[in-house]
Amino acid sequence: MKSSKDEIKIKGIAASPGIAIGTALVIGTRLAHAEKRKISAEEVEKEINKLEAALNKTKEQIKIIQTEVHSKLMDDEAHIFDAHLLIIDDHTLINSVKELIKKEKVNADYAFHKKTQHYISTINKIKDSYISERASDIKDVASRVIANINNQEIETLKHLPGQRIIITQEITPSDTISMDKDNVQAFATESGSRTSHAAIMARSMKIPAAVALKSMTHYVNSGDVIIVDGYTGTIVINPTPGSLNAYIQKEAYEGNLIKNLISESSLRPETIDGFRFQLAANIEFLSDVEDAKKYCAAGIGLYRTEYLYINSKTLPNENEQVENYKTVAKHFKEKHVIIRTVDLGGDKLKDILNLQPEDNPFLGYRAIRLCLGFPPLFQTQLRALLRASIYKNVKIMFPMICSVSEVVKALELLEAAKEELKEKDIPFDKNIEVGIMLETPSAAIIADKLAPYVDFFSIGTNDLIQYTLAVDRNSEKVAYLYQPAHPAILRLLKNITETAKKHNIWISLCGEMASDPIYTVFLVGLGIHELSMSPISMGAVRRIIRKMKLYEAEDIMEKSLKCSTADETIKLSLNYLRKIDPDILNLTSIGDL
Ligand code: PEP
Ligand code: MG
Repeated sequence: MKSSKDEIKIKGIAASPGIAIGTALVIGTRLAHAEKRKISAEEVEKEINKLEAALNKTKEQIKIIQTEVHSKLMDDEAHIFDAHLLIIDDHTLINSVKELIKKEKVNADYAFHKKTQHYISTINKIKDSYISERASDIKDVASRVIANINNQEIETLKHLPGQRIIITQEITPSDTISMDKDNVQAFATESGSRTSHAAIMARSMKIPAAVALKSMTHYVNSGDVIIVDGYTGTIVINPTPGSLNAYIQKEAYEGNLIKNLISESSLRPETIDGFRFQLAANIEFLSDVEDAKKYCAAGIGLYRTEYLYINSKTLPNENEQVENYKTVAKHFKEKHVIIRTVDLGGDKLKDILNLQPEDNPFLGYRAIRLCLGFPPLFQTQLRALLRASIYKNVKIMFPMICSVSEVVKALELLEAAKEELKEKDIPFDKNIEVGIMLETPSAAIIADKLAPYVDFFSIGTNDLIQYTLAVDRNSEKVAYLYQPAHPAILRLLKNITETAKKHNIWISLCGEMASDPIYTVFLVGLGIHELSMSPISMGAVRRIIRKMKLYEAEDIMEKSLKCSTADETIKLSLNYLRKIDPDILNLTSIGDL
């Protein structure tokens, strides 16, 4: 199937805007595949020699990487490669591969694949995060050896052979952290959705991405020319000259539109009839701060601190965290910086906490639940946040709240942290504001009971939608059911915003729904004060807010609340967008239907 050089188009989900045209690099998140081939008795020796040469070559490659990593003083990372070298020197494994070649008269890569896969499936039966890491070490090494047997490019995200478009089954948040960002032109994955953290990261890194591309890896080979259209979620493999030309033109057109939108960054996000909204930035790394400023964010609406934790081999200590949070706060002195306490768990696992894998991680030990279960971890972060609050613009936010008792417990721990600092005469903002994320249906429904405890609400639609509609936000199979404009979601948003108004509580929305212009009319119609999103998304949202009239948006929202389906609500928004700014339609997640 992979040998065809005909043009193939696959449509998935748009994950991060932009168009990339380049060379594919297929990365095996699974063990690299090897086809079985029968060989003659005379070929046995040749295959064994090929295996040995590949093992030696792999050893050399690993040692080079190890030296490189050592020279960058990343000692912990360098040790990973000791484990890789041990696998290559494992005589039991290597002898069993040679035996298989001799006995069954099969090719070396297939024999190596078969034996390592057997190891991996045995290891995978043991539910222990340390041991499952070893399975991924074996996968890594096996993929290298198989690639070397076949004289193919080595598949790894950490060390790319130059500018490449990454083709893979899935990308995890930790992959995105370790990848060789300068050389990633775009990525395309078989799994995932617009709200999976890898997609969010792609937007933050401004790398075009398409996800949920079914069976894509069956059709793409490393080295193929490929186009990734991150606006529509389409990829084109082996494009014809006509397609290449069309995409070059599209790239120029969209690029121009985006340039125009950037040039409008200093304009106020205000409706024609004079109602002002705020556009804030979601950030994951300190390096995102520059973009937030460039696109004139009104502040930081969500700083996802978990990447500080995922990124390091040990838990970040208090001083490290203080420095990190202060750096962001200093950049936005006159503006607010909402820092979310760590949201680990779900798809953001932390090995050093020794967490056992769960059957339903998104329904399990995650976010505030995990923090309340690890008081020292939580209190270290709370003290750090308080210490960083000296510029008086930091606000603290707790994720995944489901009940009043969780808020009460979190606030008690915050009070204890304040007392500790007071005793030591360490300064902090005594009036620091505290808010919660409303991202579970229970929190949305009892918003009135939660309101008295907090200063602000921030709606996390990424999770709110997954929990309300019972749709895994990372699953491409049920992505068609993930509908932000589903009447059930709009009704929950209405309940939250009405409650916030009644309690005089400031309200923001920081889920990906805020970044997609197709939903802006609903959010403006609800009167949500702030929409927080990845900085690159601000231009389109700003543009259409400036073309709206508040009463029209309110009217569309009211009508939507009476609709039965998301198709009906989306139609109302589409018709309005077509009227006020059809250009922007291409930048929505659904295009011009
Ligand atoms: C959300 O759930 O909408 C949100 C902003 O949080 P995260 O995407 O980090 O889960
Ligand atoms: Mg969330």
